This record gives sequence, structure tokens and C-alpha cells, in this order.
Amino acid sequence: MKILLTREIPQSGIEALKKEFGESLIIHHGPPMTSDQLKESAKGCDGVLSLLTDKITPDVMDAAGDSLRIISNYAVGFDNVDLTAATERRIIVTNTPGVLTEAVAEHTVALLIAVSRRIVEADKFMRTGKYKYWEPMLFLGPKIYGKTLGIVGLGRIGHHTAKILKNGFDMKVLYYDVRRDDDFEREIKAMYVSLDDLLEKSDFVSIHVPLLPSTHHLMSEREFKKMKPTAILVNTSRGPVIDENALVRALKEKWIEGAGIDVFEFEPNLAEGLAELDNIIVTPHIASATREARIEMARLASQSVVDVLVNKKIPENIVNKEVKPRF
Ligand code: NAD
Repeated sequence: MKILLTREIPQSGIEALKKEFGESLIIHHGPPMTSDQLKESAKGCDGVLSLLTDKITPDVMDAAGDSLRIISNYAVGFDNVDLTAATERRIIVTNTPGVLTEAVAEHTVALLIAVSRRIVEADKFMRTGKYKYWEPMLFLGPKIYGKTLGIVGLGRIGHHTAKILKNGFDMKVLYYDVRRDDDFEREIKAMYVSLDDLLEKSDFVSIHVPLLPSTHHLMSEREFKKMKPTAILVNTSRGPVIDENALVRALKEKWIEGAGIDVFEFEPNLAEGLAELDNIIVTPHIASATREARIEMARLASQSVVDVLVNKKIPENIVNKEVKPRF
């Protein structure tokens, strides 16, 4: 057997793989592999444990050959894996849902508060010695308590984010999704609305949809122009869900008040002009970066490899359920 781990993950995952596969486990150390390196390293693999920075294309799958039976992606999002190609080649694809829900929701709330209360700008102001005396109008921002929150994509993370902000800040919650969730509506008195309605009525908009053809540039110039000029946008989902050049214009021309962004359309690069703006806080795709979440992600991702290659069973967190697996 040959198992490729495309980068170091927490020890819990590495140990679990070593225990089952011993010397057959190949770990790539260092920065993400280029597509040529990935193809070379994947040759003859039975399983690949990939990260969101690895583009698992049909070419990579073909380079691995017929032995490849599982691609276990160390992330909830799996837009870096060509799912159709994997299913056609009878390869199981898994992700790591659930174990990072709280972490991502907490980071979302952190961004929402930090942008509203201008924490990063104020910190820079202090460090550069600009604080001379107290001023009534210094770094004013919006109150959060009791305002309207719009959740776009009410899955695990959207749901948990709404719960924190409802319970902690008594926010009125609107949501938009392709599915309605009656239990959620009852639980936190949330209202299901259209995306346009949500954008027009929300003081804070938080994005939690997966990256799909239907969500690519879900937020573009038209959508930003529908938002309140005092609204704050948070995105911890995937970069290309937002047209980032349009976001730069929206922030520069004050169509909206501010943004907190963890994921980028041209990741790891920022759209031109974004870094110069004061009314945005950017973090380097760290929404799931709690020690607890990353350990659990490692455990879950390695378990999926073991389930397929050793236990010969379908892992719970399979994403291409229609696949005809080869055990
Ligand atoms: P989930 O599958 O539980 O929720 C996604 C929700 O989006 C679902 O309710 C789904 O119905 C909805 N949806 C799908 N297409 C839609 C559309 N076109 N319009 C409106 N709603 C739509 O997923 P989750 O666990 O909540 O994670 C959400 C996303 O967050 C992931 O797909 C991933 O890309 C991203 N994520 C980012 C980080 C990070 O580090 N920044 C970490 C984890 C997850």
C-alpha cells in the first residue's frame, strides 16, 4: 500500500495512519506541492489525504492509477477536488464536517465584532503613538445588540453563528438557503427570506455557502448595492463566492461600511486595492484554526482512509455518496 499525506497535520492523524500503514505512509513536508509534484507523488497511491491547497484534478487521479480508492480532504469544503472525476474513477471522497463548526462560527463572530468596533485600526493607532487624549468621536462603529443578522447558507456553521449572535446579542435573524429549516426558524425565531430581501434588511451579512457553480460570485456589484450603506459583511466560506474586485469598490465607495474576510478569490493574493483599505479586516484562512478543531479534523480525515483501505467500509463523511467504491 501507499498512502500520501500531502502536508503535516496534527500528530493525532499522523499516528493513526502510521499505526495502520507504517512505512507505507509518505508525508510531504514543506509548502504545498505544485501540480507536477502532486502527480509524481500520487503515483501508485491507494489513498491520498489532501489539503484545500491541493488541486486534486483528473490528472492527479490518473497519475495515481487504479489503486487509488480514497481521497480524504482535510477540510469541510471540497471544491479543490474534482468530484465528478473521482466518482467516475470509483474513488471515495471524504471531508471533515462538524468538528470545526464551533471554531469557524467563533471566528466569524470575532470578525464581525472586530470590524464593527474597529479593533485592528484602533490597535495600529495605539502602537503608532497617535493616542494623545480621549475623544468622543474616536473610532465610532455600530452597536451589534438587537440588530438584524442575515445568514447566507444555513448549514452547520451558519446555524451555529446565528445561535451565538441570537443568544449573545439578541439579534433578529434572517436567513437565505436553497432549503428551508423549520426547526431553526422555531428555535431562534428566524425568518426565511430571499437573498435580495436579506441584503436589503440586514445590518450584518455572514456568508456560509459552499463554493459551487451556483454560489460563484453570489455576492457581486449588484448584491453589494442592495446592502445598507451601514452594513458589515463577513465571509468565512470560500473566496470566489465573493467578486473581490466588486468588494474593493463597495468598500472604497462606501456602498457598505465594512467587511471581515478570511477567504479570498485569488488566495493567497488579495484583489488589487484591498490591502490599502481601513474598513476591512483580513485573516489568512484561519477560521477553523483552534487546536481542538485541527486535532479532530486530523482524526476524522485519517479515520476515513483507514475505513476504506483497512475496514473496507464507507466512511460516514463521504461526499460522493453515488460512487461505486472499490474495496
Ligand atoms: P454545510 O453543508 O453544513 O452548509 C452549507 C449550506 O449552504 C447548506 O445549508 C446548503 O443548503 C447551503 N447552500 C448550498 N448552495 C446554496 C446556494 N446556492 N444558495 C444558498 N445556500 C446554499 O457546510 P458547513 O459545514 O456549514 O460549511 C460551509 C462552508 O464553509 C464550507 O463549504 C466551506 O467552504 C467553508 N468553510 C470554511 C472554513 C475556513 O477555514 N474559513 C472552515 C470550514 C468551512
